[in-house]
Amino acid sequence: MTAPPLFRRIALIGFGLIGGSIARAARAQGLAGEIVVTARSAKTRARVTELGIVDRVVDTNAEAASDADLVILCIPVGACGAVAQEIASHLRPDAIVSDVGSVKGAVVREMAPYLPTSVHFVPAHPVAGTEHSGPDSGFAELFINRWCILTPPDKTDIAAVDKLRAFWTAIGARVEIMTPQHHDLVLAITSHLPHLIAYTIVGTADELGEVTSSEVMKFSAGGFRDFTRIAASDPTMWRDVFLANKDAVLEMLGTFNEDLSKLTRAMRRGDGEALFEHFTRTRAIRRGIVEIGQDSAAPDFGRLQTGAQKKPE
Ligand code: NAP
Repeated sequence: MTAPPLFRRIALIGFGLIGGSIARAARAQGLAGEIVVTARSAKTRARVTELGIVDRVVDTNAEAASDADLVILCIPVGACGAVAQEIASHLRPDAIVSDVGSVKGAVVREMAPYLPTSVHFVPAHPVAGTEHSGPDSGFAELFINRWCILTPPDKTDIAAVDKLRAFWTAIGARVEIMTPQHHDLVLAITSHLPHLIAYTIVGTADELGEVTSSEVMKFSAGGFRDFTRIAASDPTMWRDVFLANKDAVLEMLGTFNEDLSKLTRAMRRGDGEALFEHFTRTRAIRRGIVEIGQDSAAPDFGRLQTGAQKKPE
């Protein structure tokens, strides 16, 4: 006799890169008796139906949420509060309500007030992604060996947290628990600030009159190309991230600007030793990341070759 699935019915609200990857992975692992999906636009809902990955596609958030034992909001951070309000009265008692937003403090503040005390709210952030978005961009392997950070409010039912942990583990992720505030500070430096820098530098290069845009593209392998990949990330998602995690990102940006000034001064003064020491330290950080399996040491062209079709992290 086979074990029953972890959840009887999973509702996914939003079906882009993350929602689509969760659906594919949950299906591949047999984690749901039924997967019900909705998305904001009729166009996306029609595409999800066409893809045939899920059991049911419904028109409204309320319809998706009702009678589900796990509801995951897979939508931009700025939309989570309104959707929580919309589904609140349709949630079954004991349901686990979660999200995948890249910012946690704002999501908790905006969703929690609407959710009934009879449900278990366990916010989550899978630290995995690509620059692609939309219903076709997801893939079942996205979360393998990536971290998923859960930020349950104090006094959340341990069994509900464990069940969501089991879900993320089953689709390949490693799970860690933090407070929303700590999550936002960590992600400000590891993800949000790098995206801000990439968005800036690609915009700066685009505005340089003396370097033609064809030259920028032609010689992009000299470092610029990696920035362009990050700067191609979804504008709505990232607008919401910077608005929602403003304080932590500004704090990190302040430190970054101080460090940039130090490097600028070393360069201006011809202080090769200071530059060398700094670059040696950063090289060790990169090697540490490879050592713990969060990236591969493969040459960049290897990543690019698979990248176009295989949607790498
Ligand atoms: P996506 O591919 O652009 O998909 C977003 C989904 O949200 C679509 O189904 C879209 O519906 C729906 N949506 C957009 N605006 C909405 C609104 N105002 N109200 C209700 N639904 C709305 O985005 P994604 O990359 O999956 O990101 C979803 C969430 O995951 C975000 O909160 C993001 O912070 C988080 N996240 C993203 C990554 C990443 O690398 N992309 C990584 C980790 C976490 P339509 O298709 O109908 O417009």
